[in-house]
Amino acid sequence: MTDKNRLRIAVQKKGRLSDESIKLLKAIGVKLSIRDRLLIAHSTNLPIDLLLVRDDDIPGLVMDGIADLGFIGENELEEKMLERQASNEPAEYKTLKRLEYGGCRLSIAVPNEFDYKGLESLNQTKIATTYPYLLKRFLVANNINAQPVMLTGSVEVAPRAGIAEAICDLVSTGATLEANGLEEATEIFVSKAVLIQKSEALTAEKQKLVDTLLPRINGVMQAKE
Ligand code: ATP
Ligand code: ZN
Repeated sequence: MTDKNRLRIAVQKKGRLSDESIKLLKAIGVKLSIRDRLLIAHSTNLPIDLLLVRDDDIPGLVMDGIADLGFIGENELEEKMLERQASNEPAEYKTLKRLEYGGCRLSIAVPNEFDYKGLESLNQTKIATTYPYLLKRFLVANNINAQPVMLTGSVEVAPRAGIAEAICDLVSTGATLEANGLEEATEIFVSKAVLIQKSEALTAEKQKLVDTLLPRINGVMQAKE
């Protein structure tokens, strides 16, 4: 059962942000009993519920006010914000804290044999990506006439499959690019995980709870330095 008096925090169910986000919540004193396959998890010591969802859904849940807080990568957050702005859907949120995990960059990469001589080499190409809005913004800002091709997965094999000449994808070490015969051409967005809050005011009790949690996050982050 969900209780609207409990603070609802959206967290990625399974993936690169899950473990660190849960670890951080536990480190600031939120006791959790998480059972596999469930969408919701309750804290056993505080009026907090976790919504365990795909990271793609987190920005929308916060912007629609369904979740009070959310842990999300800035890449996904910014992409969803641009997508929502384009279709006049609510796209407001507050950033409470930039976190120290989930670091990555969104980069354009080209096959090793591509004769890349700078951004202008991308003119008249198709670029496969899961982030069409961030890519489009970069292309427009740099006056490049390339066509984003939306793929929700397997972006790195698009050039080999003849779907696109280049890709725009998340990179951390570059090992995946290398394994697919690609090299980084240019970085377009640098990202970390952030904690966001819905823009609409929380109830006084919920706000009080958030106000006690935030300094603890700062404390945990400082202790790590
Ligand atoms: P979901 O099933 O929740 O949609 P996903 O496959 O979209 O999962 P993950 O691969 O778990 O997502 O990545 C989630 C987030 O982790 C990314 O959006 C990004 O902010 C961050 N991240 C950090 N390093 C990387 C990386 N090397 N590759 C991809 N994402 C990374
Ligand atoms: Zn995702």
